[in-house]
Amino acid sequence: MKLTDSITDLKGIGPRKAEAFGKLGLFSMHDVLYHFPRKYRDYSKTSCIMGAKHGDYVALELKLKSNPKLARVRRGLDITTARAFDQSGEINLTWYNQPYRMKAVVAGECVYACGRVDRMHGVKMINPSIYRQLPGILPVYPVCAGLSQKLLRDTVKAVLEGCSEGIEESLPASMRQKYGLIGLYDALRGLHFPGNMEEIKAARQRLAFEDTLLFSLTLSMMQYSLPKREQPLKLEGTMSSFIKLLPFEPTNAQLKAMEEIRRNLAGERLMNRLLQGDVGSGKTAVALYAMYAAMKNGKQAALMAPTEILAAQHYTTLCKIFGAENVAYLKGGMKKAEREAELARIADGTAKAVTGTHALLQGDVEFHDLGMVITDEQHRFGVKQRATIGAKGSAADVLIMSATPIPRTLAMILYGDLSVSCIDELPPGRKPVAARLVPEHKRQDMYKFIAEQAKAGQQAYIVCPLVEGSDSMDDVQSAVELYEELKKQLSVPVGLLHGQMSNAAKEKAAEAFRRGETGVLVATTVIEVGVDVPNATIMAIENADRFGLAQLHQLRGRVGRGDKRSYCFLLSGDSSEAAQQRLSTLVKTNSGFEIAETDLMMRGPGEFLGKKQHGISEFAAASLAMDISVMKEAKDAAEEILSDRQAMAEASPLIHRAWSRLEAMNGEIARN
Ligand code: ADP
Ligand code: MG
Repeated sequence: MKLTDSITDLKGIGPRKAEAFGKLGLFSMHDVLYHFPRKYRDYSKTSCIMGAKHGDYVALELKLKSNPKLARVRRGLDITTARAFDQSGEINLTWYNQPYRMKAVVAGECVYACGRVDRMHGVKMINPSIYRQLPGILPVYPVCAGLSQKLLRDTVKAVLEGCSEGIEESLPASMRQKYGLIGLYDALRGLHFPGNMEEIKAARQRLAFEDTLLFSLTLSMMQYSLPKREQPLKLEGTMSSFIKLLPFEPTNAQLKAMEEIRRNLAGERLMNRLLQGDVGSGKTAVALYAMYAAMKNGKQAALMAPTEILAAQHYTTLCKIFGAENVAYLKGGMKKAEREAELARIADGTAKAVTGTHALLQGDVEFHDLGMVITDEQHRFGVKQRATIGAKGSAADVLIMSATPIPRTLAMILYGDLSVSCIDELPPGRKPVAARLVPEHKRQDMYKFIAEQAKAGQQAYIVCPLVEGSDSMDDVQSAVELYEELKKQLSVPVGLLHGQMSNAAKEKAAEAFRRGETGVLVATTVIEVGVDVPNATIMAIENADRFGLAQLHQLRGRVGRGDKRSYCFLLSGDSSEAAQQRLSTLVKTNSGFEIAETDLMMRGPGEFLGKKQHGISEFAAASLAMDISVMKEAKDAAEEILSDRQAMAEASPLIHRAWSRLEAMNGEIARN
């Protein structure tokens, strides 16, 4: 049995089951092996009925008091129940639509029942699993309809046994020894069938190490394999002549970032750089320098924004700095003739600077000579992205801007010193925004304060996490509801802005707020990357505990842009100490870098790697990366490999894999 074989080669996996596996993207033996558990249930020891709290997942050692009874409640719903006991008390076992449970257990029998304890109406366990022996630690897999946990476990087990020969060790023995890592087979077995919690940890370490190592290798290779410039760029004097175009003095941090970019552009290989800095730190000016440098060399530069609103702002800025005759702007809903005129100016090179949303590089846009591509507020920065952008202007330099910093320690590990610039200083005159935690009983006072400020001519955002409270978060007060309520309650005009509104309605709401026609804007996180209103001085955030610190900080950055004192109010449904402590980080510091670092310390790198938001999605085992030190070591190991012939030879299978990953990504993009 080979890892590349189809799972239909396994006994008991027919077309129907294979189809269910296919829904999860599992086709080969290898796929199943790398389908990792989401979490674990520890059924390695028993609890007693009395001691088990509502919601706990426990294993109970029970004796059946009577035979199970089957009740047909209505068509399509039958319930099997059994009464059982241990020394401490009695419990009901309840199964929905599992009539076969009738015969599975009988009165007087001793069994282990495993599952979630429910104490809502009497003590019961719903759909418990029944075992004759303690099952130990059970993995919980992501599943879908037609696939049970048991089927997945059995399948993984069959693959592990059948393919044990085929699972080749991928890390050199010397490396495993140096970094204290277990072998690949043991890691996979430990992750799927752990004997204890330590085995899970060791398995995760090993797999996260390998994943980071591969990522590092791939990234290094990409840097080495970035195309060389056809012609060196002429950059003398570009920084000083550019600075003269700005309406302000750049900060030292901006100058430093510009200089890093200049040096990068002066190098023989194309630039692939991440520019990080808080909202309001002045990333745009730095990006404009990169555009200017390209334009001075006769090339075109594109600046892409994630929203129409932001693109419109960029257009205004570009026109001011470079002159409208040199700028093209592609927006949604343009008239055909208008759009074609812009496209023509881009294609013949009349337009040197082009802006629009991220759709700019997709579809029918043809450039005369695209030399610089900048994406704004893009959270993703990975290998794939570079390749996507590269495909359009194959000789283009790339700059990616992000306002949700990847913690510096993590950025250094992942990308190294060479490709990240950080703006860690705000332009002068900006007052720090005071953050406050607002307890529920102060909510009305807060609204009163907001209304007063609005009457005095200031403006406020009130942000809610979700639109039309989805079922899973039914306690979330939706933006719409809050809007209706505040419209009645506050004696100032209130606006509403959320992601499910039409573009036109969004633009209208944003415009009304920009003009000061609405004093209070109730919004979902769409404003996160959208609106720049210097007159706004209050940012109130509902259910703040649902947001990451970095995101909260970014929202806070939306206010405090004018000269008035500004406030950020954090409301939280979670009054637990941990939640409050986490939120208080925002009260203590104003630096996005510090905040990201705190998030990293508190929640581990998995938070940054796994989340779409930061979406370094090249990490397969992102959820395994619990420990920053493991990643650091993996990065060291990657450097060792690339700096030493002997190490390189030993690790040649790894290098080969990293290389094919890069090729695969480039290929995938070339096809699209
Ligand atoms: P972000 O990093 O969030 O993209 P922007 O580039 O939009 O920040 O800058 C925020 C505001 O600060 C803009 O209005 C910009 O004109 C202004 N700004 C940027 N740099 C400076 C500076 N060095 N001095 C004064 N104002 C600046
Ligand atoms: Mg910006």
